[in-house]
Amino acid sequence: MPRLVYLLIILNFILLTTCSQEKNISKTNNKIQIITSLFPVSDIVKNISGQQNVDFILPPGVSPHDFEPNPNQLKKYANVKLIILIGGDIDEWVLKLLSNLKYKNDLRIINLHSSIIKSNYYKIHLTKEYHPHDDPHIWLDPILVQEMVKIITKELILLNPKEKSRYNQNRDKYLKQLNELNTKIIDTLSHFKKKDYISYHGAFDYFSRRYGLNTLIVIKRSVNKELSVIEMKKIIHTGKKNKIQYIVTEPQLNPKEALVIAEELDAKIITIDPIGDPRDPSKNTYIRLMEYNLNIFKKIFEGR
Ligand SMILES: [Zn+2]
Repeated sequence: MPRLVYLLIILNFILLTTCSQEKNISKTNNKIQIITSLFPVSDIVKNISGQQNVDFILPPGVSPHDFEPNPNQLKKYANVKLIILIGGDIDEWVLKLLSNLKYKNDLRIINLHSSIIKSNYYKIHLTKEYHPHDDPHIWLDPILVQEMVKIITKELILLNPKEKSRYNQNRDKYLKQLNELNTKIIDTLSHFKKKDYISYHGAFDYFSRRYGLNTLIVIKRSVNKELSVIEMKKIIHTGKKNKIQYIVTEPQLNPKEALVIAEELDAKIITIDPIGDPRDPSKNTYIRLMEYNLNIFKKIFEGR
């Protein structure tokens, strides 16, 4: 075959596949009606809607605390009607993306953190030292997720009133699964007397308060703030005093200080995951993600 003809065939093939891929992308994106900032919330929505009409923004493996989205990231979705945010300072970057949208007038945006801040949990746990108003990691407490499920169901019904009874049925089924998850966590953790740990980031504070775990120290309250030598020494002292064997980090963060502290304590690094990953079968749904984390906590406390 002459070289030019060969090249033309290849070029043609490339053009054809690129076009069909583009077609597929626009086809899929037309279907998306609901967008969440974080993956686990999109899984929760899917359980209620029973449909694949939901997508999430934060890519797997990236921390929401220092995420810089592409300014045009939302433009490819032509039919988005509802955006579900966690709220607080965890997904403020979505608001930046919204300023680039043409259809923003028809859009409903809900903020879960500010909605459930009115729930009884907040009233009970608000203390001098602990300000849940500042902590956005609400989805890591399955009981707060039950509140979130009720809020999301109401929103889905507003969006699609004909599906009301189906959504309500799905909601009840999922609330039951969350109850089972809650029981499983209580049962598993009840075997351990000593439930203290040192974590790199404070994502599991709600979880810990709910299930009686004791967060001895959160190494970094603020992801972008450097630790002082005094702070490092204090953490190492507490770790030694409590014979800490694991330093808990998260896959989305670069735990450089945790590595130093672990070295000093002769402790191991162990990873819990607040976000999950749709490509990883051990944490590709919210419930599997929480079961994965439960197993990590089990491992930490077995050694205490
Ligand atoms: Zn976090």
